Amino acid sequence: MKNVSGVRTLVLLLALSVAASSAKTLDIYFVDVEGGQATLIVAPSGQSLLVDTGYAGNSGRDANRIAAAAKAAGVKKIDYLLITHFHADHVGGVANLLDRLPVTTFLDHGPSMELDGKYPEPYEMAFAKGQHKVIAPGEKIALKGLDVTVVAAAGKAIEAKGEPNSYCAGLKPHAEGGDREGGENTQSAAIVVQYGKFRFFDPGDLTYNKQYGLLCPDNRVGKVDLYLTAHHGQETLNAIWALAPRVAIETNGARKGGFPEDWKIVRGSPGLEDIWQLHFALAGGKDANAPDALIANLDSESDGNYLKVSAAEDGSFTVFNQRNKYARQYGAR
Ligand SMILES: [Zn+2]
Repeated sequence: MKNVSGVRTLVLLLALSVAASSAKTLDIYFVDVEGGQATLIVAPSGQSLLVDTGYAGNSGRDANRIAAAAKAAGVKKIDYLLITHFHADHVGGVANLLDRLPVTTFLDHGPSMELDGKYPEPYEMAFAKGQHKVIAPGEKIALKGLDVTVVAAAGKAIEAKGEPNSYCAGLKPHAEGGDREGGENTQSAAIVVQYGKFRFFDPGDLTYNKQYGLLCPDNRVGKVDLYLTAHHGQETLNAIWALAPRVAIETNGARKGGFPEDWKIVRGSPGLEDIWQLHFALAGGKDANAPDALIANLDSESDGNYLKVSAAEDGSFTVFNQRNKYARQYGAR
């Protein structure tokens, strides 16, 4: 070996790359279920929380995509399945999922308010095989190494004390019955996942009024790094600006959610660095969509790609696009 310092550098680089790959991260997979939700959260301990299951049908398409993300994450069972609410784009895929992955504990807000206080039958059959628990605001979901707090469920918001939210000025709740697609959406469970300094807010499909109740006049969610746009990018209100997210992710479909007026509110959030999307939203055109590199599925040729966020305890994180393998880093602040 004629270049000893070169060898030393190589050894050091190898050691650094081993350290980097074994560094514990919180990994979040935003699985493409064509405008529904299926978010796989994998704690540094390896424990898993799946938020929703996408749609039924299509030969188990959505469950196949969840199973593929789980395989990529090295997850062999779902420790907790949280069903935010009982609409088909969230609970539909549950039976297909159980054909592919075992679930230990099923969590939800309680029976559906759209089914005379009953659970959808396929879901009731599913949780009969495992443990089942109704969650309430303020409760924790016990994932080892993470702090997961339920901030809304069954129409109620967490009773935490928050900072006054100046972005509520001029906003008021919609009149009775004015909440777009009310019903089960008003009951949606919402969670905050915290790993060290990193915070992620998943509001499910909370309606305008329910988001208003959670964020106004005080922001009871606090500041977050990563924000999943509520209801696939519909019913967005300026009050979310108090969350001060660095990155927003939209679980929209090509023709579902991703409304241009909502996208522009999110884009205007002070300090927001990027919006990443599961699909190019056809309604938005180039003016109300992220740059192509940050979109997981551009057209019908590129369906089923996920976005993956890997977060470290210091608050730094990376977003990765499965379609083009593009990744962007957000340093600790
Ligand atoms: Zn939905």
